[in-house]
Amino acid sequence: MSAAGTEALGAEFVTRYGREAAVVCAAPGRVNLIGEYTDLNEGFVLPIAIPQVTHTLAAPRPDRVLRVASLDRRDDPAISIDLDRPEAPVAGWAAYPAAVARALDDAGHRVAGADVLVSSEVPTGAGLSSSAALECAVALALCALSGVELAPMAIAEIAQRAENRYVGVPCGIMDQAASMCAIADHALLLDTRTLAIRQLPFDVHGAGLGLLVVDTRVKHALGDSAYGDRRTACARAAAALGVGALRDVEVGEVAAALEEIAAKAGEEVMRRARHVLSEQARVLQTAELLDAGQIAEIGQVLIAGHASLRDDFEVSCAELDLVVKAAVASGALGARMTGAGFGGSAIVLAAATRLSEIAQEIAARFSAAGYGAPLCFSASASAGARRER
Ligand code: ADP
Ligand code: MG
Repeated sequence: MSAAGTEALGAEFVTRYGREAAVVCAAPGRVNLIGEYTDLNEGFVLPIAIPQVTHTLAAPRPDRVLRVASLDRRDDPAISIDLDRPEAPVAGWAAYPAAVARALDDAGHRVAGADVLVSSEVPTGAGLSSSAALECAVALALCALSGVELAPMAIAEIAQRAENRYVGVPCGIMDQAASMCAIADHALLLDTRTLAIRQLPFDVHGAGLGLLVVDTRVKHALGDSAYGDRRTACARAAAALGVGALRDVEVGEVAAALEEIAAKAGEEVMRRARHVLSEQARVLQTAELLDAGQIAEIGQVLIAGHASLRDDFEVSCAELDLVVKAAVASGALGARMTGAGFGGSAIVLAAATRLSEIAQEIAARFSAAGYGAPLCFSASASAGARRER
C-alpha cells in the first residue's frame, strides 16, 4: 500500500478508536503454483505470496477485550471479544481474529486486549486465501503488542489451528505458511508433513515473463461437500495401501499402488489417488526446474496439473477450464486452476509482452460464454508477512 494509503488507514483508526495505532502489520494472500490437494496427503506444495496484503493496525488496551473492525465490512460496528471468555460464540468475520487470540492463548502466549482495524486488498472467497492473510496479520499485531516473539512458521501453525479448531474450516498449513514465510521473487517449497521449507528462485519479471491471476468470481455450491469427499477418497486410497498418507508412495511404486487401490477401493478412488501421486511428482519436477532457473519450462507442468485436477480429481469447473483453454490458445506458456476449485482463481504464465492480450482474450471468451467478467491482475512472487511500524 502507498504511504498515503497507510496514512489514511491511520486516520481511520484514530476516528474509530480515539487514539493512534501503535503497530501496523501486513500479511499477503497467496496463489499455489503447483501442488493442489497434495497437502491433504502430507505432500509438497509450492505457493507464492501475492502483492495484495491485509493490513492490521492495532493499539493495546488495559483490559482483556479484543475490539475488531474491518474497513471491508464498513457497515458492521466494531465487535468486542472478551478474551477471558474464549468459549463465547463470535459471529461473522470476527470469528477469525477471535480464533487467533484463542489459539495464541492455547500455545501459551497470553495476549493483551487490543483495538484492531483491518483493511484488505486480498479478494475474499476467490481462493487467494484472504482468511490466512487476515489470521496472520492479526496474529502479528497481537504478538507485537504483547511482546511475543515467534518464528514465522510458528505463527503459521497457530493461525492454521485457529482456523481448524475455532472457525471450523479444515484447511491445511499451506495458506498460512505462504503468508508468513514467503519472500519476494521466490516460491516456497513446503513439505506439509515435516514443515521443512526451501525458497526457490522465481523471479518472473527477471525472466521476461509474467504471471496472471484470474479470479473467475464464481463459487459453485458443490465446492463445500466436494472437499470432504476428496479428503475421504484420499484416506481410503491410503488405507487400501496400508500407508499413513499417499505421500508415502515412492515414485517407482506408483503404477503398482494405483492397481492395488483400484482393486480394493474402486476406479473413482484410484483416479483421485492418481491425481495426488502425479501432482506430487509435478511439484518436485517444478522445483527442479526452478532450481535450474528454467521458469518458462514449468508451463507444461502447470497444464498437465490442470488436466489432472479436471479429469482425475474432478474439482475444476467450466469457467476455470475456459481460462486455461483461452490462455493456452492465445500463447500462454502454461495455465491451471489454483486453490480448491469449483470456481475461485486460475493462474497463467506467459511472456510479459503477451499478458495483456491474453487477459483480453480470456475476458472476451467469458463474455461470449455469457459468464460475468473475471478479475485479472498480474502478480509476482511477493514478500511474506511483516510488521511495518
Ligand atoms: P479465501 O480465504 O479463499 O479468501 P475463505 O472463505 O477461506 O476464502 O475466507 C474468507 C472469509 O474471511 C470472509 O468471508 C471473512 O469472514 C474473512 N475475511 C477475510 N478478509 C477479511 C477482511 N478484510 N475483513 C473482514 N473479514 C475478512
Ligand atoms: Mg481461506
